Amino acid sequence: MTSAANPSNFNELGLIPELIARLSDLEYTQPTPIQAQAIPNILAGNDLIAGANTGSGKTATFALPMLQTLFLAQSAKKTASKGNFVSGLILVPTRELAAQVADSVKSYSANFNGAIKTVAVFGGVSVNTQMQALRGGADIIVATPGRLLDLISSNAIKLDKVKTLVLDEADRLLSLGFTEELANLLALMPAKRQTMLFSATFPEQVKLLTQELLNDPVEIQVQSKEESTLVQRVFTVNKGEKTTVLAHLIKQHKWRQALIFVNAKKDCEHLASKLEKRGVNAQVFHGDKGQSERSRVIEKFKAGEIEVLIATDIAARGLDIEKLPVVINFNLPRSPADYMHRIGRSGRAGEVGLALSLIDYEDFHHFKIIEKKNKLRLEREEVTGFAVNQANLDAADALKNEKPMAKPEGTGKKKNKNKANQEDDVWSGWRRK
Ligand code: AMP
Repeated sequence: MTSAANPSNFNELGLIPELIARLSDLEYTQPTPIQAQAIPNILAGNDLIAGANTGSGKTATFALPMLQTLFLAQSAKKTASKGNFVSGLILVPTRELAAQVADSVKSYSANFNGAIKTVAVFGGVSVNTQMQALRGGADIIVATPGRLLDLISSNAIKLDKVKTLVLDEADRLLSLGFTEELANLLALMPAKRQTMLFSATFPEQVKLLTQELLNDPVEIQVQSKEESTLVQRVFTVNKGEKTTVLAHLIKQHKWRQALIFVNAKKDCEHLASKLEKRGVNAQVFHGDKGQSERSRVIEKFKAGEIEVLIATDIAARGLDIEKLPVVINFNLPRSPADYMHRIGRSGRAGEVGLALSLIDYEDFHHFKIIEKKNKLRLEREEVTGFAVNQANLDAADALKNEKPMAKPEGTGKKKNKNKANQEDDVWSGWRRK
C-alpha cells in the first residue's frame, strides 16, 4: 500500500488552474483522503487499485486527472481529430451510475470551454441519440459494458486509442455478470494504457482481474472518515410486523427522504401498496421500470419530491443523493457486501446519515453473517411500542437449535476450487500483451 504524503488542499495535488477554479466554484474546500493520495499518482501516469467506500469522492479522484491529461494533450495539439475514437473510457455497472458519473465529469470540465467532450452510453434508451452524440468521436465515454459493445459493433466508436481506462465499482461490474462483456471490451483496447480500478470490496474475482489487468499499480486503501458520520441501527421486530413498524417509523420521524431496500421487484410494489394502506405514500424503483421512468423517479427523489422510495439493489451502488437522511433495510441483502453498498447511500461526503435494518427471527442468523463479514457488531434494539413477543423469541431459539443441513457428498471445497479454476480461465485472455 502506498502511503503518499497527504496534501490538504487541491493546489498541492498538481492540478491545473482551470480545475482548481472549478473545484472552488463547487465548494470543494479540500481533497478527500482518496483524492489526496491518488490524484498525484494518477497524474504521474501510474496504474491504480483503489479500495474506497462509496461517498469517498472517488469520481473526482479519477475524473480530475483524466480531464487534466486530456486537456493538456489537446492544448499541446498532441491529439489529432477525434475521428470515431475515444481517449478516456470509464466503465460502470449501472445506467444510473453512468448518467451520474458523466454529469460529474462534465461539471468538472466546465472551465474547458467545450474542449473535452464527454458522452454517457447506457442501455434502456434510444441507441440513435447516443450514436449521434458520438459522431465525431468523444474524449471521454462513461459506459455500461453491454451498450458500449453494441455501439462498437455498429462502428459508432472504436477503442483502439484508449489511453485511460477506469473500472468503477469493479466488484459490482463482475457480480452483475459483465465478465464476458468486459473481456470483449478489453480485447479491443491497446495494451499500453493507464488503467485504474475502483472497488469497494475485493472478492476473489476482482483480485484476479487486478492481477491480469494492471501494470505495477499503486494501491490505495482509504478508510474514509465519512464512515463515522453514518449511524447504523438494527431493530428486531415480530414476524409479520415489519410493514407496521416501518410505517410507524416513517410517520414518527418525518424523514425528508427515505430509501427502503427490498430484495425483489415484486416486493417493491407489494410494500408500496401496503404502506399506502397505512397512509404512507411511496414510489418504487427497480429493473422492470423503463429507463426514462427510472431517471424520472431518481430525479424526483433527489429533488425531494418523492419522500419514500422503495428500491431493489439496482439503487444500492453509486447513486449519489445529496444529504439522504436514511436508508432502511426492509429485507436484508443476501450479500454482506451489498449491505455496505446500501447503507453507503446515506452519510455521504461527511453528511450525517442513518442506516436502519428491520430484522425478524428468520433474519437473525443472516444479520450475524453480515456483521461478521463487515466486521460490525450492532446492538439489537426494539422500536418502542413494538416489543418482540415470547412466541417470536421461542421461534428464534428453535431456529438457532436446528441442525444445519448436511451437505451432499462431493460438494463444498472441491466445487469452489473448480469454480476458481473456471474464473482463472475467464481472465487468462485478458493479459496485457
Ligand atoms: P463520490 O464518492 O464520487 O460519489 O462522491 C460523493 C459526493 O462527494 C459527491 O456529491 C461529490 O460531489 C462530493 N465530493 C467529492 N469530492 C469532494 C470534496 N473534495 N469536497 C466536497 N465534496 C466532495
